[in-house]
Amino acid sequence: MRKPLLEYCQRLRISEVKGAIPPKATSAILDVGTQEIAVTGRLTNLRNGYRYYFLCPSCGKPLESLYCLDYSQWKCRDCLGLLYSSSMKR
Ligand SMILES: [Zn+2]
Repeated sequence: MRKPLLEYCQRLRISEVKGAIPPKATSAILDVGTQEIAVTGRLTNLRNGYRYYFLCPSCGKPLESLYCLDYSQWKCRDCLGLLYSSSMKR
């Protein structure tokens, strides 16, 4: 079976949902479609603000992007088994 390509998936970037995260929150739950996705905030190295990451609902890894295939659940690309098409040329 062919693995799905990253380019054909919906992608959700943390920068697109930043506005929904309360300022200085270290964690939040966001409603994305019908799914609740946890977000975690980490103090930057300069300690002047927070960087936010999605927690993959499947594996719990902190990530800046989640992906969705065929309107199923948002997950990280490892959990979806996604490939970049460019990686197939190597
Ligand atoms: Zn995952």
